[in-house]
Amino acid sequence: MNVHNMMEEAVQDLLDSQWQYLNLSCHCDECRADVLALSLNRLKPHYVRQRTGLMYTKAGLMTEQSRATILTAIVESAKIVSASPHHSQTSDERHK
Ligand SMILES: [Zn+2]
Repeated sequence: MNVHNMMEEAVQDLLDSQWQYLNLSCHCDECRADVLALSLNRLKPHYVRQRTGLMYTKAGLMTEQSRATILTAIVESAKIVSASPHHSQTSDERHK
């Protein structure tokens, strides 16, 4: 069985474009993965059977409304991760 969550793709894309503007205490890959996971937990998944030939734009995930919803989830998640990064201070230093 091969299903694909289009929401994951949409969140990753938006996270890519907004990452540098997010107000985070740390911008390392670990924190980024945390923000992605938290955001996805807040959003409704959008599964499609096959990824090929169906972009998420067609799945209706890039309307202004959807973008706003996804961005809100990302910003909220960023606040949580920023307040308590899951990694130690040392790896924080490493990524500076
Ligand atoms: Zn970090």
